[in-house]
Amino acid sequence: MNRIPRWMRSVVVSVTTMMFAVLVAQAQQPAPTQPATTVVRAARMIDPKSGNVMQNPVVVIRGGRIASVGANAAVPSGATVIDLGNLTLLPGLIDAHTHLLQNYRGELGGDDPNMLITVATMSTAKRALLGAKMGREDLEAGITTVRDLGNSGFSGDVALRDAINAGWVIGPRIRASTRAISAAGGQFGPVQPETQKLIEQEYAVVSTVDEARRAVRQAFYDGADLIKVIVNTGPRVVSLDEMKAIVEEARRVNRTVAAHAIGDTATRIAAEAGVTSIEHAYTIPDDVLRMMAQKGIYLVATDYPAEFYVNALGPSTLTPEQKQQQLAGATQFAKGNGERLMRAVRAGVKVAFGSDEYYDTPGRTRGQASLLTLQAYQEAGMSPLEVLRSATVNGAALLGWSDRIGAIEAGKLADIIAVDGDPLKDVKELQKVRFVMKGGEVVKR
Ligand SMILES: [Zn+2]
Repeated sequence: MNRIPRWMRSVVVSVTTMMFAVLVAQAQQPAPTQPATTVVRAARMIDPKSGNVMQNPVVVIRGGRIASVGANAAVPSGATVIDLGNLTLLPGLIDAHTHLLQNYRGELGGDDPNMLITVATMSTAKRALLGAKMGREDLEAGITTVRDLGNSGFSGDVALRDAINAGWVIGPRIRASTRAISAAGGQFGPVQPETQKLIEQEYAVVSTVDEARRAVRQAFYDGADLIKVIVNTGPRVVSLDEMKAIVEEARRVNRTVAAHAIGDTATRIAAEAGVTSIEHAYTIPDDVLRMMAQKGIYLVATDYPAEFYVNALGPSTLTPEQKQQQLAGATQFAKGNGERLMRAVRAGVKVAFGSDEYYDTPGRTRGQASLLTLQAYQEAGMSPLEVLRSATVNGAALLGWSDRIGAIEAGKLADIIAVDGDPLKDVKELQKVRFVMKGGEVVKR
């Protein structure tokens, strides 16, 4: 970096300055042309923030952003008009918990063998290409922004994010976390010492407060927008002191922390440390929920309807009796999840939609399968409007992007979807998105 002698460097600098001056002069000459104007109109528009429904909305879009919104408003002359007839407009959806660089197969027998095969046999480059496919499937289903939470090799999520931003591939906006920070072993099942080297492909393992700090700084160096921590995997738990250090390191630079935590000990550690969101929390005590409400910590409830847990496991060799047994177990699990979701809502905890979808799901794209989580929220007892908020305004706030996404408002990015039916009556309508626009570009029509 410092091999150019000092005198030569100053010559380089002055030449560069001259070239820059020429470029600026050239850029200033012609009068700037107005960016093209697009208008999207439809029968209705839902504002998830207020719950209001606007009739005959006219959304004017310029330079990828929303310039104005009004009922029966005049269409600017020369605008390209996209008339969606009887459809209903909504802001693009936000999935706050994705794993785009993973696509497990149920027939391989669950997380442990799948993780081993994925990490041992797929390069990060190959996984990023898989992520491009999964991302496109999310976007076409109406998910225009995701927070990708680890399991992406060595910063494959960062590569995918940057490729999408550069226009190399089509996909949702991504907030990336790089490798998740965890206790020994990450989320791997037991493997031989020779094989344990694989763990660092996927996780940054920490055992002290200093290592925790170092892992956060390394993640930011690797390109992370936020930090993901696996607070517990079985009896391996990140300590409260380590968690506090992680949160402090991230907060200092205005970044957030997403904590995978399940059960009393781990959710308590995460809440006490003051993370931004707690993921999963399939079991969580009431006093921890109250602490989350007080501190404004989001619950990202990665729930599914019971049938999903059975069908997602793919072509199965189970006997009908075994399948019945499996469904009974899944029904119990889904019921428990629904109850804890409503306990959280009643305690005043903000909920953000997160699918945690990472299995190949027969008959559904990645995006379509992910949206089943919204159905689970509704089946648990959340109103359709509350469910819509979890996937729009709440997601935007959790991602620190309230100024750009989560609403169809002047100044926001033009991330707009449209559906046939009325999602304020039934959020399952979101499973059939007919139109998708991201940043003013039509992705699906
Ligand atoms: Zn996850």
